[in-house]
Amino acid sequence: MPQTDDALRRILAERLNAIRADLPPTVTLVAVTKTVSARVAGLLPGLGVTNLGENRPQELARKADAIPNVKWHMIGHLQRNKVDLTLAHATLIHSIDSERLLRAVAAAGAKRGVPVPILLEINCSREEAKGGLPVLELPTLAQLATTLPGVQLRGLMTMAAYTDDPEATRPTFAELRQLRDALEQSLGIALPELSMGMSNDYRVAVSEGATLVRIGSSLFSGLESDEI
Ligand SMILES: *Cc1c(COP(=O)(O)O)cnc(C)c1O
Repeated sequence: MPQTDDALRRILAERLNAIRADLPPTVTLVAVTKTVSARVAGLLPGLGVTNLGENRPQELARKADAIPNVKWHMIGHLQRNKVDLTLAHATLIHSIDSERLLRAVAAAGAKRGVPVPILLEINCSREEAKGGLPVLELPTLAQLATTLPGVQLRGLMTMAAYTDDPEATRPTFAELRQLRDALEQSLGIALPELSMGMSNDYRVAVSEGATLVRIGSSLFSGLESDEI
C-alpha cells in the first residue's frame, strides 16, 4: 500500500491518464472521493482534477474545508435538513429527486440570493432500490423547477444498474439523453448537462452523450481510506 504523497501521486497520475484518454474534452471528470481521505483527495487539484464529488453532506463539507480550489459536486441522497450545509460548499447538486427536496433547495437558493445549479436524478433503470425520480414524474418536476427562481435547472443525472457487461447500460443512458432532449423541446430551455457513467460504464455513457462522469473506484481502488 502506498504511503508517501509522491507514491500516491504517481499512481493517481497513471490512472488519470488512462481515464482521460477515453474522455473527449467536452466531458468533465468528477472524481468521487467518498472512499479516500482528504489527504488523498487533496492531491487531485495538483494533477489537474478540480471537480470532486461526495455523496454525504458532512463529508463534503469536511473535505471542502480541507481542500481549496475545487468545485464540489453533491452526488448522493440529500435530506432537507442538510441543504444549507451542502449549499455552503457545492457548486452543483446532481441528486434532486423529489418535489419536497426541490422546493427546499429552491427556498435556500432564494434566501442566499443565488440560484442553485441542479440536476434532476432519474431512476431510468427502474430498480426499486435505486434512488431517483420515476421517469413518469420528470415532466412535472422539471416544469416546476423552471418556475422556481432559487434553482437553475442544468440537466439530468442517472445511475445505471450494476452489471458485468457495461454494454447493458446503454439503454439507460440513451433514455436519459432522450428524456433531456424531449424536455428541452417542451420547456424551450437548454439543459446542457447529462451526469451519467461511473467507473464500470463511463465509456458507454460518454458515447451516449454524458457531459459529467462520476468516477471513484477506477481512480482510488486499493488506496487507503485512513486518516478520518
Ligand atoms: C460512489 C458513486 C460514484 C462512483 O462510483 P465508482 O463505481 O466507484 O466509480 C458515482 N456516482 C454516485 C452517485 C456514487 O455514489
